[in-house]
Amino acid sequence: MLDEIFKSIEKLYPEMVEIRRHLHQYPELSFQETETAKYIADYYKELGIPYRTNVGGNGVIATLKGGKPGKTVVLRADFDALPIQDEKDVEYKSKVPGVMHACGHDGHTATLLTLAKALKQFQNELPGTIEFVHQHAEEYTPGGAKPLIESGAIDHVDVVFGTHLWATTPLGKLQTTKDIMMAGADRFEITIQGKGGHGAYPHETKDAIVIGGQLISELQQIVSRRIDPLATAVVSVGMFHAGDTFNVIADSAKIKGTVRHFDVNVQERIMSEMEKIIKGACIGYDATYDFHYHKGYPPVVNHEKEATLVLEVAENIREIHTSEEMNPSMAGEDFAYYLIEKPGAFFFTGAQVHDNPYPHHHPKFDFNEKAMPIAAKTLFGAYFKYQENQY
Ligand code: MN
Repeated sequence: MLDEIFKSIEKLYPEMVEIRRHLHQYPELSFQETETAKYIADYYKELGIPYRTNVGGNGVIATLKGGKPGKTVVLRADFDALPIQDEKDVEYKSKVPGVMHACGHDGHTATLLTLAKALKQFQNELPGTIEFVHQHAEEYTPGGAKPLIESGAIDHVDVVFGTHLWATTPLGKLQTTKDIMMAGADRFEITIQGKGGHGAYPHETKDAIVIGGQLISELQQIVSRRIDPLATAVVSVGMFHAGDTFNVIADSAKIKGTVRHFDVNVQERIMSEMEKIIKGACIGYDATYDFHYHKGYPPVVNHEKEATLVLEVAENIREIHTSEEMNPSMAGEDFAYYLIEKPGAFFFTGAQVHDNPYPHHHPKFDFNEKAMPIAAKTLFGAYFKYQENQY
């Protein structure tokens, strides 16, 4: 049966591409993806697979109950896009100004939908139940996974699997880990309130640019001087806005950035060290500040048994020439929440287009569509092998 199912996935490749390119042209931002949710729901309606909409927000879950006894398995795909202007020169480029599927979630959706279609015809022979979880809002914290899970949607589930098409990993390569896979990703905002004034009379001001500059270079020392060298973390400032012209001292400054970590204890330490540094810099100049630290997604931590299973499945897929344990990625993913609740594994499906691929979230990002059937086969394989292992 495995071979037959793989063949029917392959046959659906043109439809996969068609769906992906349609979604690519009509991307929707996180928490606003109602048309995409409707498109997904309509597809299941057409297939005759029961589904629920508005799960934890715009989430859609379709349930395929096999004819044989078995476990309940979640296969998850996200479907939101990013606030990026599509700069690709292809006929399927985004038709929505300033919005783009720059992370491949269109491909995740096309993969899962067509996998459901391929499996529908084998329903009576399938063991257990597959929950096709189409999750909204992965790109923007607090994300869609958390409310979807809190709604009780996966309470009854035994295991979860998910993949990300990875455009900087060669086609035919599968990567995962048996432990930490992706980082926790946080966001911070600092406002320094100084006192503006004439550029010629600095002594009468509290220069927000000088305070901000000092503070930024000290933030760089958190990782090098304030956390264990054996721990891993990133503190990056991505925005520093202050001042308007050459002869006026800035009244205030705004700084934004991100923190990545693999461990909540490290996260707590970074938060408290940041506060100390900001406070210290401002006290010295008699300025005030506002500091907001938004905890993002926790680290994605795979379960060893299920990750091993994915690696075994990959060995038996013709198109996968390499399956390997990777170093953890510093990117974040709200798949983390599923893995806190349930056993399971997340993996990258190599989807590189050419030698010099644009990375995820780049205005020219694209991925190799041939990775979609590979992802579908691996997700199916994980579900199927998981059932086998239960007996
Ligand atoms: Mn993504």
